[in-house]
Amino acid sequence: EVPNQSLVDLLDESSRRFGPRPALDFFGATTSYAELQTAVARAAEALRRLGVQAGDRVALVLPNCPQHVVAFYAVLRLGAIVVEHNPLYTPQELQHQLADHGAEVAVVWDKAARVLQQIAADTSVRTVVSVDMTTALPRLKRWLLRVPMPSARRTRTAMTAPAPGTLQWEKLLAAAEPIDPTYPRPSSEDVAVLQYTGGTTGTPKGAILSHRNLLANAIQGRAWVPGLRAGEETIYAILPIFHAYGLTLCLTFAISIGATLVLFPRFDVDQVLAAMKRRPVTFLPAVPPVYQRLAAAAKERGVDLSSARYGISGAMALPPETATLWEEVTGGLLAEGYGMTEASPVAVGNPISTARRIGTVGLPFPSTEARVVDPENPDQDREPGASGELLLRGPQVFSGYWRQPEETAKVLLPDGWLRTGDIVEMDRDGFIRVVDRIKELIITGGFNVYPSEVEDALRRVPGVVDAAAVGLPTAGGEEVVAAVVLAEGADTSESAIREASRQHLAAYKVPRRVVVVDELPRSQIGKVLRRQVRESLLSQPGGGQQNQ
Ligand code: ATP
Ligand code: MG
Repeated sequence: EVPNQSLVDLLDESSRRFGPRPALDFFGATTSYAELQTAVARAAEALRRLGVQAGDRVALVLPNCPQHVVAFYAVLRLGAIVVEHNPLYTPQELQHQLADHGAEVAVVWDKAARVLQQIAADTSVRTVVSVDMTTALPRLKRWLLRVPMPSARRTRTAMTAPAPGTLQWEKLLAAAEPIDPTYPRPSSEDVAVLQYTGGTTGTPKGAILSHRNLLANAIQGRAWVPGLRAGEETIYAILPIFHAYGLTLCLTFAISIGATLVLFPRFDVDQVLAAMKRRPVTFLPAVPPVYQRLAAAAKERGVDLSSARYGISGAMALPPETATLWEEVTGGLLAEGYGMTEASPVAVGNPISTARRIGTVGLPFPSTEARVVDPENPDQDREPGASGELLLRGPQVFSGYWRQPEETAKVLLPDGWLRTGDIVEMDRDGFIRVVDRIKELIITGGFNVYPSEVEDALRRVPGVVDAAAVGLPTAGGEEVVAAVVLAEGADTSESAIREASRQHLAAYKVPRRVVVVDELPRSQIGKVLRRQVRESLLSQPGGGQQNQ
């Protein structure tokens, strides 16, 4: 039932239907659907002249900006494969991924151009195209200067002089005619994007996503969100487009319904509230900290957020207090969903109505099947309500990891089921609650302890605002140790926190040690990196076995 189309066809359709309407808004500068389509046609021709062909990977190292959207669709128009990268990656991280996928052309923002030139020799990159984000808009320039970069010195040079040997994006576009309309277009089964996973549990893996996969998820989203008004919605891209969640729920979904996409290169409360004055948001996909901070700031400053009819929270558990605050401030609905890069990414979502169930991630998406099985034996289904590993099957499920057949075989079962690696419970009505990741389960004294349960208990202790629980090795296996962040001014002692958590936890789940830290390490999208917490606890005096 997924139409036999590509993502490029969706853009063309929207350009036909909504030509003069704004597709993009970047600090108030708008690009209409017709202008976007023309820019894509020119950019496709420019990239074709640089030698990009069907099946080639093209690296994008860009924050959210209009050029990012143009480059994305231009690469797809050629039948080539988009590979997104976090623009704040260190040179080592970039080099690792470039070496993995072997792109020869990279389109990068000016701040990263120099880094790209430096590492190009160790990768297959032979052409770096730099997008000048900063000279066009002086106000933006000042703001971008505050974005943290791996090296401040390098940043300042990059601001004034283009890296040698770098081509300029705007010049390439100006010199190129729109691509010949008869140039072969991608087909539905072609690979569209090589999307690296979030890197929460280890080195990110490149998930191969076809046009069909991504198109399916955009269409499933359309069927899921009630009362969408084609050509009239305003979606804020606060989530990075370089992440699977932003790629679909902001970019391809927005384009498929002719929405206006307001692009934010990074999350800044002031910038978002300023945008509310010129183009109020109607639909906001984001992560819990974004809803929390926006709602709190709007409430404090009396900014009207009532245009926000729907919010879709994902990527990590949505605290019920955040959902309540957002709904109170906006008068709209905030529904939690669940997804993963390997599922393009959304697979489960709450009904966007009062039928949603706070504390669950909702029901399988339209045309998506879900099963809960024994992780040791995925043929064995669990009883309703019992916890087990979530399996998913549907048109949005990927076909494998780039050049990693063994990793692929671990997660893709022969009959098309995807092993999510997440432990969930599904009730009789089909609502799913996420418990935790299998990889992060702690086994202590023969018992299984889910770190999320320990963390929830610790967060309930007065004075504690955040917590991460991990298993550290002991002679007989593992013991639970937790890192906690205290509220400002709180001076609760580590042993008092530990004692207080007893109230909510069975004895074997109570952390053997609690360590107060300034902050928890987080991934690009804001997930707590328990593996890094574990490493730093291990390297501390008293970490691991030393205190036995
Ligand atoms: P990696 O696979 O590289 O370790 P990652 O799994 O974090 O990183 P993503 O594909 O971005 O990379 O994230 C998918 C995961 O995010 C899911 O498997 C699940 O663990 C978690 N997740 C997504 N939505 C939710 C949610 N609503 N509540 C809790 N966890 C969620
Ligand atoms: Mg994962």
